[in-house]
Order: sequence, then C-alpha cells, then structure tokens
Amino acid sequence: MKVLVINAGSSSVKYRLYQMPQEKVISMGFVERIGERDSELSHSYQNRIHTEPVKVANVGEAMELVLRTLVSEDRGVLGQLSEIGAVGHRVVHGGEEFTGSVIIDEKVIASIEKFSDLAPLHNPPNLDGILAVKRHLPDTKQVACFDTAFHATIPKVAYMYALPYELYEKYGIRRYGFHGISHRYVARRAAQLMGRGKYDINAITCHLGNGSSLTAVKNGHSIDTSMGLTPLEGVPMGTRSGDLDPAILFFLEKKGYDVQALNDLCNKESGMLGLSGISNDMRNIEGAAGKGDERAKLAIDVFCYRIKKYMGAYSAVLDTVDAVVFTGGIGENSVLMREKICDAVSQIGLKLDRQANKNAIGKEAEINTQDSDVKVFVIPTNEQVAIANDTYGLTKEQATDRIQPEHLKEYQV
Ligand code: ADP
Repeated sequence: MKVLVINAGSSSVKYRLYQMPQEKVISMGFVERIGERDSELSHSYQNRIHTEPVKVANVGEAMELVLRTLVSEDRGVLGQLSEIGAVGHRVVHGGEEFTGSVIIDEKVIASIEKFSDLAPLHNPPNLDGILAVKRHLPDTKQVACFDTAFHATIPKVAYMYALPYELYEKYGIRRYGFHGISHRYVARRAAQLMGRGKYDINAITCHLGNGSSLTAVKNGHSIDTSMGLTPLEGVPMGTRSGDLDPAILFFLEKKGYDVQALNDLCNKESGMLGLSGISNDMRNIEGAAGKGDERAKLAIDVFCYRIKKYMGAYSAVLDTVDAVVFTGGIGENSVLMREKICDAVSQIGLKLDRQANKNAIGKEAEINTQDSDVKVFVIPTNEQVAIANDTYGLTKEQATDRIQPEHLKEYQV
C-alpha cells in the first residue's frame, strides 16, 4: 500500500510517499516559502530531483500542487491519485484528547480546530493540509499523528504548573510537550539497538534542532519533557528563550513592550540568536566561537549548561538511565555539542568515546566507551516513517505503537 506522509506548516508543506510496509520511499519533496513571492517546489522521482519556482498562496494550494506533481505526466510517480492508500499527517497539538494516532473523521477535525487555541501557529496549517487532501481525495483514509500524544503518560505531578488549579480546568493550562513522534521513534530505536523490548528502557532523549526538547523516558514511556504548554519552554533554542523567570515579562511590559513584542522577543529573537547576536544556526555559532567570538562561545555554553541541568534532573526523575540519545539537526551532526554535553554529565555514569563521536555525523552510532554505564546513541530521527507506520497500521486495522490504556495512569503519584 502507498502511504503519503504530510507535514504542513505555515510556510512549508513537506511530503513523503512510502511503499508500505516495506518503508520504501517512492518520492519526497516540499513546497517552501508558501505565500511569498519566491515559493519553491522540490520533488524527487526516480533518483532525480526537480526544483521549480512556483506561485503558491497558502497550504491548500501547496497541497494541490503536491498531489498534481505526484501524478504529473513527466515527473509523476503515480498513475492516478487513487493509488494512494492512506495519508498520514503530523499534527502538533492533540490536547489531552489524543493519546495516539487516529483515523481522521469530522470529530477529530473539530478537535484539531479546538486545539488551535493552544497551538495557533501549527494546528491551523496542519488542518488546512487535512482539509485539502479531503477535497481532492474524499474517499482516502487520513490519519493524524500528534506531537503531543507520546507525552500522554506524563504524570500529573509533572504536567501541572503551580498556578491556580482553575486555570487547568478552565483553559487546559498544563505541560503537553512536543516532538513526541521523534522522542518515541528514537526511544524505540535505542531499545532495539540495545537488544531490548520497547518497554524495557529508561532513556533521556535529546531532540536538539532549531527547536529543542529533552524527554525522560521510563519503561518506554514519556514521564517528563522540557517543552510545556507551548514549545517555548525548556532549553534555549535557535530563536526561543526556553525557561525564563516570568517576571521578566512583567518588567519589560513596564518598559513599553506589548504582548506581541514580548511574544516575538521570546520566540523569534532570543535563544542562540539573541545570545550570540550572530545567528540561530548552530553551525554559524560554532564557526564564530572557533574564531574566538565571545558571545558565540557564551551561547554555546548556555545551551550546554541548560541541557546539563535538564539531564541531571531527568536522571533523578528516572532513577536509572540506560541510554542517552541525541537526535535532531544538532544532535545528529554536532560533534562539539555532543562532546560538551556528555563531558558535562559524566556523573550519571556516561563516558563518551571521542573517536566514535567524531565519526558519527548524520548517521546512527553508539558513541560511548566500552566501560560506560550509560549507552550514548546518535539516532537520526525519522518522524515520517513513524507516521507512515501509524497510518498503515490504523488503515489496515493492525496494532500500532500507541500507549496502552493500562499505561496511561501508570506513573501517577
Ligand atoms: P528543526 O527543528 O527546524 O526541524 P533541525 O532538526 O533540522 O531543525 O535542526 C536544524 C539545526 O541543526 C540548524 O539550525 C543547525 O543549527 C543545526 N545543525 C545542522 N547541522 C549541523 C552541524 N553540522 N553542526 C552543528 N549544528 C548543525
């Protein structure tokens, strides 16, 4: 069966067409800079890549272009769209309602819309992608895979903020966590690499990219994660501040910042960009630090120090840590960041094999020494294949990798 995986964001739509269950990629590509004058389509077919400037005003038009391209005469990979057996979508926020991937019906659509309140930048374009596919392929099953779902096992003690309880009841203000599809994928893969079952691993999974989050995985389940109500909380990121004293915002409000300015400040102007004054991209920051730039060095030090604090906290939360996993653009590629982070957390029994670390760029590897108590893995994340598997499984009414009901309350205290 052919499964189309869609990740629709506000400025881009990424797609991958799989032959399942073989997990073979038939075609992949993206439409970028949606709504701008220089939108672009990139599409791979038969070992070739075609790129083309396009005019695309919104996610709906981008989806239409993707579907048209998949069946186009010269670059198509399908005879007709009905060959697509199912479509899986990455959806950022599933609130408290979704504890696993689901087949999309009107009720699911209404819920995704409802949770737009909690993820105003993400859920609306995710939904636009779903609705566009529904218009063009009304009879094809669609599946929603939520970034929040893997974190449904986080106990109340870890997801409650110490705010008046009514705010949780009235507005659903709590920690939800994100990057769940990635954390689940790498936690499962780490268990496999250790020759264990998926529920037989305690791990700290570090998804370090432009957005970064850490998750404490106990017996294969998320029991705490660094992102919160929104993806702003946690470690500093490319342009996001991560954890802050909230009183900084009140202070700045008195200095004349309005809500929009504070939002932009914390989400778009802070993190590595704000600290370094150079870039949000870790490659540029590492380059500048290498040339002696003090603020670039500071940005790196703050990033690693704050990750160290989370890892210390999560090793306490987990009691025993079997593995640390690095993934995401930085986690998969930055030898320097992995080295600095691992050196900083040696007290949890982790010993880095420096040469193995140097060799592990963009590929799966075990990078701990033989005598390390804790395994350290680099595992390139593959959210698309996780979505393809959930979509295939649900469509074929087979078991999927979802939280079992008995595990939902397992970690409550
Ligand atoms: P996103 O969170 O947007 O999915 P990615 O996971 O693709 O982002 O990570 C992108 C980030 O990864 C870039 O901004 C860059 O900082 C970092 N990165 C990629 N390659 C390297 C590298 N070789 N060294 C250091 N950082 C890298």
